[in-house]
Amino acid sequence: MEIVAVDLIVLGAGIAGLAAARHAARSGLRVVCFESLMFGGLVTNINELSPAPAGVSGSGIDFASDLMGDIADLGVEYLNAEAIAVERFADTIAVRTSQATHYCRALIIATGARLRKLGVPGEAELEHRGVSACADCDAPLYEGQDVVVVGGGDSALQEALVLAQFCRTVHLMVRSEHCSARPEWVEQVQSNPKIMLHLHSVVEAVRGQDGVEAVVVRTGASAQRREFACRGLFVYVGLVANWPVTTPRLQSDAAGFLLADPDGVTAIDGVFAAGAVRAGFGGLLSAAIDDGQRAAASVLQYLQRHPSQQVHAPALPVHGEVNRLSAPATGVNPGGSALQFNH
Ligand SMILES: Cc1cc2nc3c(=O)[nH]c(=O)nc-3n(C[C@H](O)[C@H](O)[C@H](O)COP(=O)(O)OP(=O)(O)OC[C@H]3O[C@@H](n4cnc5c(N)ncnc54)[C@H](O)[C@@H]3O)c2cc1C
Repeated sequence: MEIVAVDLIVLGAGIAGLAAARHAARSGLRVVCFESLMFGGLVTNINELSPAPAGVSGSGIDFASDLMGDIADLGVEYLNAEAIAVERFADTIAVRTSQATHYCRALIIATGARLRKLGVPGEAELEHRGVSACADCDAPLYEGQDVVVVGGGDSALQEALVLAQFCRTVHLMVRSEHCSARPEWVEQVQSNPKIMLHLHSVVEAVRGQDGVEAVVVRTGASAQRREFACRGLFVYVGLVANWPVTTPRLQSDAAGFLLADPDGVTAIDGVFAAGAVRAGFGGLLSAAIDDGQRAAASVLQYLQRHPSQQVHAPALPVHGEVNRLSAPATGVNPGGSALQFNH
């Protein structure tokens, strides 16, 4: 079978993936970016970035849209598709989606992470009926009502402060004896009269019929069980890696984050990891940008060491799944999207 492989596929159009795609395309590589949901990733719904990367202002979606504009101008192709398998053979890496198999010479995995669930009774049953992961989107729905936020890190405190602008009371449940968030968030939370901080507090269950009515918590040094009447539950207790794709030889840590060095180099030649999916990732958007750019630089070095095997480029039909954002950059194969083979 004749294979047309693009230089680089980037999996995930979060900030790390978009930064990687932009850096690689600026360096002249032909790049395709895959996104399973919507571009922007974790910060899509953050109305006010804090901290914002240097030179960036506004919301998460504004920032992601700017990056999307950049990659469109650079001729990066964008596919709404979820990668479900990755395989390396000879000098080519195959990426499979439910629709087709795509080929590339190098791959950057930037599939990020998602919010961890509590895993307690009632949480899944009441999802989108009071159990929410987006304070920025849903806070106005809880105007004048009581809500519970779970978590002691930056995200939990940031979102508790957003909710406090609308809600009557925000109960903030923190498992340990202190908040791990940045001191400025802790100070703001402690001085906000609408936010009740409950340390040593572990949520055990969510109660409600058609919507959240109460949250059951073991709280205080005596671990007393208490029910907090509320209409909303917002959970920010860390992240889970977005990499359920079986990839032999690609190693991950106990929490599922991919093992790669800060330059994104993994155990598989030609496969790199960047951003929140990478074990040891710095956590902030500035780190996501750095990670993406460093992984793209690693790809450039890798491709220089592994020059193209002169793959044949037949004028294959363009399949529906490929959504070109703009005309390809000058010098890029005019066959355009001839990079995929339907099963
Ligand atoms: C609530 C919250 C608020 C935050 N606020 C800030 C802030 O104000 N300032 C700051 O600096 N940082 C903030 N952060 C941290 C910031 O979100 C991360 O540093 C950054 O988003 C990580 O980007 P990423 O591209 O690595 O991953 P993600 O943002 O997770 O993006 C990964 C993308 O890959 C896609 N994807 C997943 N699996 C597949 C697949 N199989 N195939 C194709 N696509 C796939 C996902 O849909 C997603 O779009 C916040 C985090 C959270 C949780």
